[in-house]
Amino acid sequence: MATDNLFKYEKRELEAFGFSRQNLRHSSKSPSERLIEELRTQGIVNAKVLDIMRTTPRHLFIDEALSSHAYANYPLPIGYGQTISQPYIVARMTEALLNQGKLDNVLEVGTGCGYQTAILAQLVGKVYSVERIKTLSDKARDRLNFLGLNNVQLQHSDGHWGWAEQAPYQGIIVTAAPLNVPEALLEQLALGGCLIIPVGQKNEQILLQIIRTRTQYEQYLLGPVNFVPLHKGLK
Ligand code: SAH
Repeated sequence: MATDNLFKYEKRELEAFGFSRQNLRHSSKSPSERLIEELRTQGIVNAKVLDIMRTTPRHLFIDEALSSHAYANYPLPIGYGQTISQPYIVARMTEALLNQGKLDNVLEVGTGCGYQTAILAQLVGKVYSVERIKTLSDKARDRLNFLGLNNVQLQHSDGHWGWAEQAPYQGIIVTAAPLNVPEALLEQLALGGCLIIPVGQKNEQILLQIIRTRTQYEQYLLGPVNFVPLHKGLK
């Protein structure tokens, strides 16, 4: 039933039944469903990505004090000057990665709170994720265990070096921006594999999709983005 039809009723008639104009507009949709609708209007089309994002509890990845913002389409602070990525960006990067087809293994650089890790874990065979800030990595591990996502391995390390022991990867996704694409990540990409990575300085970053072919690395521009920097060393 279109809620607009109900607006022909007088305010007092609606209130007599416990409705307000406010809750009529939103009564049928949960915050996560509204977020998914917004992602669709922004051009995300992969039904699996949208479905996993609808059912993954983003509020578990952020501080309780921010939980009323959990399903809003913007980044939020997660401590240590870092952020949980905007849902649109998570969806866009995941969709671009999955364009290559079914993926058995993916390396993520920048675990952060583990939200992108959780989305990937439900869509690919195995996820390896590295994070340079130990406390963030430990907390992400607890959340992923709590959700029963046991096809994930986390490591406290500097993602500039990738994770050589588990390479090659069919997909690599980087959630912090270096100035240039790290050589190790290109080397650890499987033949036919796909690397999604933001590069550039603050306010001048672009998101790249790089596909490794037999003879070269093909590079595609996905658009302007704004990520935290990929820092060197551990904390
Ligand atoms: N994937 C996260 C995004 C976190 S923000 C999400 O789902 O929301 C980016 C993360 O990259 C931060 O946690 C930051 O500490 C981490 N990071 C920055 N430089 C890094 C490096 N060299 N190696 C590994 N992680 C790094």
